Amino acid sequence: MSWDRQIILKNPAEIAIMREAGRVNASVHAAIRELLQPGVSTADLDAAAEEVLRKHGAVSPFKGYGYPPFPNSITVSINEELVHGIPSAKRKLQEGDLVSVDCGTLLEGYVGDSAFSAGVGKISARAQKLLDVTEQALQQGIAKMHSGNHTGDVSAAIQQYVESHGFFVTREYTGHGVGRNMHEGPQVPNYGKPGTGVLLRPGMVIALEPMVLVGTSRTKVLADKWTVVSADGSLTAHFEHSVAVTEGEPILLTVL
Ligand code: MG
Ligand code: MG
Repeated sequence: MSWDRQIILKNPAEIAIMREAGRVNASVHAAIRELLQPGVSTADLDAAAEEVLRKHGAVSPFKGYGYPPFPNSITVSINEELVHGIPSAKRKLQEGDLVSVDCGTLLEGYVGDSAFSAGVGKISARAQKLLDVTEQALQQGIAKMHSGNHTGDVSAAIQQYVESHGFFVTREYTGHGVGRNMHEGPQVPNYGKPGTGVLLRPGMVIALEPMVLVGTSRTKVLADKWTVVSADGSLTAHFEHSVAVTEGEPILLTVL
């Protein structure tokens, strides 16, 4: 899945608004984390997200996105589901599940985009390792988000970290620029070569999102046309932050 969308630099005032959108998105994450218990439905998580968004005068850019239009405000993807799971009142969390939640906040015309994965109750050692590696891979990518580096430096850092722990990165879904639109240029894959790709410059805002699979890099899409699962049914995880490139250290936008 590749695109050639425009890269739109943001000025400090725009980045300040995006920081607020990101803060709201982090609040949504916090509300959902508190609900991750056996018996809670994925529709319950979606309702909790909508409540937080409404309280902040924000809406989700996910709702109505794409074709068929995505029906909910968050995506909830469990175990072998990597991304884009559709919330449902029938789908209840179970002890030991690994849940990935992706949320977007549209506030004052700008998008905050971030995702996390977490266990429900007690999870296996393998699942915990997958969580730790995926979250740390995101940090490895963020550490490369310096002006003068290339997107390939970010991609390679994520890929090398994940593969050094014996897991796989998806080739089909990528990180991306974010701003007034949820998906802008540049694309930032979770694999690549240092020194290649787009030069990072101050004012770029990019959503980095390692999507990691235990047994394969291959995925397939279910009949609902949204839910992406690992091709071999193996466990998956996903972490994402929206990050601004500056003259100095990168700014993490999607934190409290
Ligand atoms: Mg996202
Ligand atoms: Mg994203």
